[in-house]
Amino acid sequence: MSIQKRLDGRLLINGVLIAAQNPSTAVHNPATGEVVAMTGSAHPQEIEAAVAAARAAFQSWSGLPGKARAKCLHRLGDLIEADADAMAQLMTLEQGKPVNEARGEILKLAETCHFYAEEASRIHGETVPNDSTDFDSIIVREPIGVVGAITPWNYPAELVGWKLCGALAAGCTIIIKPAEITPFTALAIGEKCIEAGIPAGVVNVVTGPGAVVGQALVEHPGVDKIAFTGSSKVGLHIQKSATTVKRMALELGGNCPMIVTRSADLDAAVKGAVRRSYRNCGQICIAINRIYVDRQVYDEFLQKLAVGAEALTVANGLEFPAADLGAMASAEPLNKTQEHLADAVSKGARLLAGGARPNGAEFKNGHFFRPTVLADCTHEMLIMTEETFGPIVGVAPFETLQEAVQLANDTPYGLASYVYAKGADEIRFLSRLLDYGNVAVNTVDAGIINAPYGGRKQSGVGYEHGREGMLEYMNFKHIRVRFDMPSEGI
Ligand code: NAP
Ligand code: MG
Repeated sequence: MSIQKRLDGRLLINGVLIAAQNPSTAVHNPATGEVVAMTGSAHPQEIEAAVAAARAAFQSWSGLPGKARAKCLHRLGDLIEADADAMAQLMTLEQGKPVNEARGEILKLAETCHFYAEEASRIHGETVPNDSTDFDSIIVREPIGVVGAITPWNYPAELVGWKLCGALAAGCTIIIKPAEITPFTALAIGEKCIEAGIPAGVVNVVTGPGAVVGQALVEHPGVDKIAFTGSSKVGLHIQKSATTVKRMALELGGNCPMIVTRSADLDAAVKGAVRRSYRNCGQICIAINRIYVDRQVYDEFLQKLAVGAEALTVANGLEFPAADLGAMASAEPLNKTQEHLADAVSKGARLLAGGARPNGAEFKNGHFFRPTVLADCTHEMLIMTEETFGPIVGVAPFETLQEAVQLANDTPYGLASYVYAKGADEIRFLSRLLDYGNVAVNTVDAGIINAPYGGRKQSGVGYEHGREGMLEYMNFKHIRVRFDMPSEGI
């Protein structure tokens, strides 16, 4: 039986894949419009059951030595890696990205399992000196409890995995609410958790509309922490709508700039810009939305960027696993891309590449769009001020590095930024002044699993990746002990 048949209309509660009792909605393949399978909307009773299962499992899971949890996470990583091909096909079916890219994401998920397995066996505390030698202050770390993880559709495996692995390593249990349009990758990960011998109730997956099922987790007093990745709008709503005090990690939208100075290796900068503007059709929170280029190299950069964008292949990601761009995940980001394009052109931007859907019958029923370059953009245009989440990038010239920084920081967002420059002084100046959680210099791979990743300003609070990504799921406890000198004769 295909995975999608097996997961059709299912929820994972207390270690069992059950059929959701509520009516299901169809999940469509964004490249063809065909129905992949149905997804259930968790009923309030099913949400209660998931929270109860996670609460019950927390007692024993949190009491295990870190090494025992590490074993489970290593097994999970091995199982996911072994089944990477099938899991990648499933992701492409529901999300649209080319299979090779989906496979890369699955392998990164496996790496995340192993990384946090290792962290789980290194959870330690501290002993802090006091004013008097009669006291010891011992700081221990304890898991928070039950986590509600709410995730978007652009990276259906990794964005679940960072939360799942950090939480499980720390000793927390979890209820995952994946995006409604990409529920099956999360369910497939849940299935692997069962196979890996992770005890029932430690990992639960409930599907359904965010405003109902996600909101129920936010409001549930039995959920101790919400780990959310998604738009700033929904993130803010979640923060406001919690009915009890609970920990929150909000990984939100971005509007990421790239700065190219006159000393930059221009070919490398163009290669980086092409990769980070169009990969996953630009549906990346750290996608390059806008590029500022030193006036002296502006025309040359633009000409090379347009050639680079036009050279990319757009295709059905299942049939052409090595395509550069597959279908966009749904009509929503495609419509926004077209809106931002029309707005920019109406305000004087020059269209240098793309700007339309690809021609051909094979694209007719899918959400495809060609990689698009807009020149001479200004901050009057949506393309430079709002997150597009599509395969389009706006470019503008700058005269001084001060102006470049001012333009780059002129946004409510603060997730990632990119710099291409050779001069050490330029690199130091820019990387210090860019008001972002991430500054990537002469590379567009901003994140690695070993280092904390998170936004500032309206891009969110909290960190994923790195040791920090596990500590987010822990409380500190201060145990202050007074010792007396031993009495004579002991
Ligand atoms: P979204 O609309 O905010 O949805 C994210 C998740 O929240 C989905 O599971 C959604 O469920 C759920 N949700 C919606 N309303 C809710 C509510 N009232 N209460 C609880 N949950 C609710 O975001 P998206 O459109 O899926 O994803 C794109 C956004 O994610 C972009 O802004 C992108 O920048 C951001 N993102 C950020 C990062 C990061 O690390 N900072 C990474 C990736 C993406 P439904 O799908 O059922 O509506
Ligand atoms: Mg949405």
